[in-house]
Formats: sequence, structure tokens, C-alpha cells
Amino acid sequence: MTPLIAGNWKMNGLLASARTLAETIAAKVAGATRAIPEVALCPPAALVHAVGQVIEQQAKGGQTVALGAQDCHPKEKGAHTGDTSAWLLKDMGCRYVIVGHSERRADHGETDATVQSKAAAAHAAGLIPIVCVGETEAERDRGETEAVIARQVAGSLPAAATAANTVIAYEPVWAIGTGRTPTVPEIAAVHTQIRALFAQRHGAADGLRILYGGSVKGSNAAEVLAAKGVNGALVGGASLDPVDFWRIIEACPMSPGGAP
Ligand code: PEP
Repeated sequence: MTPLIAGNWKMNGLLASARTLAETIAAKVAGATRAIPEVALCPPAALVHAVGQVIEQQAKGGQTVALGAQDCHPKEKGAHTGDTSAWLLKDMGCRYVIVGHSERRADHGETDATVQSKAAAAHAAGLIPIVCVGETEAERDRGETEAVIARQVAGSLPAAATAANTVIAYEPVWAIGTGRTPTVPEIAAVHTQIRALFAQRHGAADGLRILYGGSVKGSNAAEVLAAKGVNGALVGGASLDPVDFWRIIEACPMSPGGAP
């Protein structure tokens, strides 16, 4: 399986800065002289089209960057002011869409059922949803991590999820944007749990990409990405800095991580 490093730009960037950032990353990816992971960029919805154009222009025979988005609506079209359909994202060249990010669960009251319906829409539109799960700090402190992950994985994945059409991102809420990360054994334990849960409900999980997300930076990427069962990263803040994002890409092992 090819690992995936996905950059979640969140609500950052204007047209010019987004173009420059995408150009820089796409040129580095196209010019890579050794095997690197798949790289995806997930800009804000209003910048998806422009970033897609930059990626297309930069694709000069080398490896190309995949385009992603940060959210989609469960419906194909209709009276949903301000929302973006998975079908429009597909039409604009997206391959991925993040669903169930903890910021959307918190800021927009998204439940597991909402996330599941968005992931199902992504599948129907031909996109690969990156389904985010993760416990809050209070839940971890209360020893509820395993139960929270089990509930979110069961509730957020559509029945039709397969290892090929879905990516899962384990993102402990307390690690996002805080500079704190779980220990390598803690990350490995949750990834092992997610893979087992997926295998129980959806069949073969060996090829399922489970990303780790939460304060991944160039300085800790090698350690985090080598954790057992980690197949790449969902990167927020560090994906806005092309130098640091590239360090993460280069630090990613091309085969799944080793010892927990
Ligand atoms: C994220 O928002 O998905 C994320 C992982 O953020 P950060 O890398 O900034 O912690």
C-alpha cells in the first residue's frame, strides 16, 4: 500500500498564497528522485478549483499531487446555502474529501450519523473520504479512548466502506494544533484497534490506509510515521509551510511502520 500524506489547510490562504504553496509542493513532488508517499492537498472549498489548476499545470510527467477538500454535503444538490456537494468536488478534480474532522464535529455539531452520510455521498460521487475519528483529552483521561474510537468507527463509516474506497485518520482532538502528540505505543494501539474494527465490519483491512493526525511536524514525523499500523499522516499547521511539509513527506516510510 502506498502511504498518504494529506495537507489540511483549514481556513487558511488567499488565492495568490494558495497558488504559490500548491506550486511549490507540486514541483517538489514532480521532481522527487526517490519513491515518496502519495501527497494530497486539501485547501478551503473556495480555493479547490484554483489549486487543482496549479496541480494540473505542474504535472509534467513526474508524480502528481492529489486534490482534496475539507468537507462535503451529504446530498448531491439542492437548497443547502453555503455547502459544497461531493459531486462538485469530483467535478473540480478532487480525489479525496475529509469528513468528520473534529473541528467540524465541534463547530457544526456533526454527529457520527452526519459523518457517515457525508462519507456515503463521497463514495457515490467517486471520491475517497478521509474519515476522521479521535478522542478528546477528557475522554482519554477518563480511559474512554477505546470506547470512543469504537463508537466513532462504527457510526461514521458507511456499510459500503472498503480498504480501497476509504481512508481513516486517527486524530486525537487534544493533539490537533497543540504541539502535543500521543506516544508511539499509544498511536500504534489505536491504529491496531481501528484496523481490527474495520476488518470485523468491512472485511479485509490489510490495505486500509489509517493516517495519524495531530501536531505532525518535520521534527517528529519520522518517529510518528514509523509507529505500527500508521500509513501516513493528515497534517494541519505544518502543511502550510512547504519546507516542513516536505520534511514530513520525506520522513514517511514507504512500507507500514515497524515496532510499536
Ligand atoms: C488537522 O487539523 O487535521 C491537524 C492534524 O492539525 P495539526 O497538524 O495542526 O495538529
